[in-house]
Amino acid sequence: MSTTEFSRPTIERETYGIAPGGQRIELFTLTNDGMRVRFISFGGIIVTIAVPDRRGRIGDVTLGYDSLAEYLKDTRYFGALIGRYANRIANGHFALDGRRYELARNHGQHHLHGGIKGFHTAVWEVAPFRNEGDVGALLMYTSPDGEDGYPGTLVVRVTYTLTFRHELIFDYHATTDAATPVNFTQHAYFNLNGLGRHDVLDHELTLNASHFTPIDEGLIPTGEISSVAGTPLDFTRPTRIGERIDAHHEQLLRACGYDHNFVLDRRPGEDLSFAARLRHPATGRTIEVHTTEPGVQFYTGNFIEGRYGRRSGLTLETQHFPDSPNQPQFLNTILRPGEEFRSRTVYRFTVTESSDRR
Ligand code: BGC
Repeated sequence: MSTTEFSRPTIERETYGIAPGGQRIELFTLTNDGMRVRFISFGGIIVTIAVPDRRGRIGDVTLGYDSLAEYLKDTRYFGALIGRYANRIANGHFALDGRRYELARNHGQHHLHGGIKGFHTAVWEVAPFRNEGDVGALLMYTSPDGEDGYPGTLVVRVTYTLTFRHELIFDYHATTDAATPVNFTQHAYFNLNGLGRHDVLDHELTLNASHFTPIDEGLIPTGEISSVAGTPLDFTRPTRIGERIDAHHEQLLRACGYDHNFVLDRRPGEDLSFAARLRHPATGRTIEVHTTEPGVQFYTGNFIEGRYGRRSGLTLETQHFPDSPNQPQFLNTILRPGEEFRSRTVYRFTVTESSDRR
């Protein structure tokens, strides 16, 4: 396949499968300037991100499956939209305005990635659009009051845009009729080598984070915000992921690798700020992540098994900090009636030459 085969900005839709509830699931293909992104209306799941390497060879850089049946069985949130609350809420409960709320405990005793139903199993209504040189789609879902234990009816709009600058942009918007925690993210796993046949240990990562939120044995934040200096969690300079992943460090041992929320260093007044740069030296494929979110979960797929092996993909999930509803010192994640939740994350795909270390 060559880049010229898909250079025009187009969006196509076709039937992908039938969900257990009988709903028809559609597959959308966004194409722009030699890059192709495919997603389905089930979970908003991104099934393909095809980008060129430095020699123009196209490779799929996100882990995925070939059929809806496989996505229905997935337990690793491949490519899915995550909400209402990405990451963990300790012991599956929180208190809000004097009331205690019980959430689904779908991860041992804890609540993970919105619970059993979650955005990742929702069937999203999708409205494709073309806007000047960009193509994209508006994904719409109304999460009913009480879903997975959360209060209030939450109206969610997520926009996926593929620009002619090789940016994949996620814009999140929500309103509610009762106070509720919100923390949305996208759970695509990346492997810039393509096809996920190799692990990601040869990728080089930079994180714009001088601090992280340490975790306890249950991967719940202890509440501290600690410096990465002198630890294997220091990615403030480009570092090969495999270099220290098996270091004898308590934080890495607890997570069996990297599975941590990094606190982004934002400049005052900056809205969309640099979060991460992931580079695969052998192919030159590179992703730059910018976000309005305060944190990013860097997870090295330590528990992936089956079709793809352990550490065959990594996530850079932009987000608010895990367990914020139970951690008053963390930034607020409660959305109230009359407020609008907005958040943006941009993944920009580029290629670098082998000598380019920037
Ligand atoms: C979490 C991991 C979890 C994974 C599920 C990540 O966002 O940080 O702990 O195992 O999602 O696939």
